[in-house]
Amino acid sequence: MAGRARYVIISDIHGNLEALRSAIAAVEAKGGVKGWICLGDIVGYNPDPNQCTALVRNLAMATLLGNHDEASAIHLKENWFNPYAEAAVRWTARQLTAENKEYLAGLQPFEEIKLAGNPVTIAHGTSHELAPFGYIRSTVDAREQAERQKTAVCFIGHTHRAGFFVIDKNGAAFTPATYGGEIRIEPGKKYVINVGSVGQPRDGNPQGAFALYTPGEGSVEIHRFDYPVAATQAKMREAGLPEPLISRLGAGV
Ligand code: ZN
Repeated sequence: MAGRARYVIISDIHGNLEALRSAIAAVEAKGGVKGWICLGDIVGYNPDPNQCTALVRNLAMATLLGNHDEASAIHLKENWFNPYAEAAVRWTARQLTAENKEYLAGLQPFEEIKLAGNPVTIAHGTSHELAPFGYIRSTVDAREQAERQKTAVCFIGHTHRAGFFVIDKNGAAFTPATYGGEIRIEPGKKYVINVGSVGQPRDGNPQGAFALYTPGEGSVEIHRFDYPVAATQAKMREAGLPEPLISRLGAGV
């Protein structure tokens, strides 16, 4: 059933092992998945950067570089982050093994790949050569991205807000996937699909998110899942990570 081949697309795990394990369990419960793709930010913010990097390395057929991966594994640029995010990046850089740093440092921020013969663009932020870590927040941003991508579909992360931008000759529209959602790919349109965040959702729902893409059916589903938030928060407290980063997980902001 090659036409039914499904792919899982995850992003922004940010060292949240409980959330990543719960995502894996949710995918296994659905079954029939051919491959995993990770859009970057495996580390930063949360307490298990090495375990998450090892799991994603094992799992994913394609993985991208996120800005927190770059800052933790390669170099931390000034004024990139707010003080809490920067503290977590510095903490993460101290935790990461040399092997995991080398792996993260070898990743690219965007790429064009083929899934079951279907070309798609994957990007952490955008597929803009000069600004790969730009944020696609509005329909204006999404139209710029759509013009840039050669493929009908682009999967992104980075804002931690799941949803579907649909762009056609009349304009662009956004449908959030705060509690999940599904879309059909139609000819003549372009799609910029934010798969949301596994480990630090910011759309008001503390549940993690991932996307399931079935190229043969032209469908993309965004799935939300529960994970033991309190367990991650307890580990963060023990690690001495900043309190605002601990509390935001409970609120999904
Ligand atoms: Zn992120």
